[in-house]
Amino acid sequence: MAYEDKFRSDPFTPGLFHCLICGKGVRNKHNHFRTHFPGDHRCWQCGVVYSRLDKLKTHLRTVHNCDYIQRTQWMTFNLNTSNW
Ligand SMILES: [Zn+2]
Ligand SMILES: [Zn+2]
Repeated sequence: MAYEDKFRSDPFTPGLFHCLICGKGVRNKHNHFRTHFPGDHRCWQCGVVYSRLDKLKTHLRTVHNCDYIQRTQWMTFNLNTSNW
C-alpha cells in the first residue's frame, strides 16, 4: 500500500513528516502508516500473514503457544531480522 502521499514533510525539521491521517509528527513513515492500516499481520515465527489481528493472535496461541507482541517490541529483541 502506498504511504508516501499520506505524509507531508515538516518544513522546519528535516526528516520529520506529518501524518495526514492523524496529524502526528513521525520520522518512520512506513511504520507509522502501518499503525493506521494494519492490513497484514505477519507471524514472526513462520511468516504466515493474516488480515485480522485477532486471527494472528489465535494462530500464535494455538500454533506456537505464545502471546502476540507488538512488532516494535519484537523488533527490539530481533534487530538482526529486517525482512518485514
Ligand atoms: Zn497517523
Ligand atoms: Zn506462525
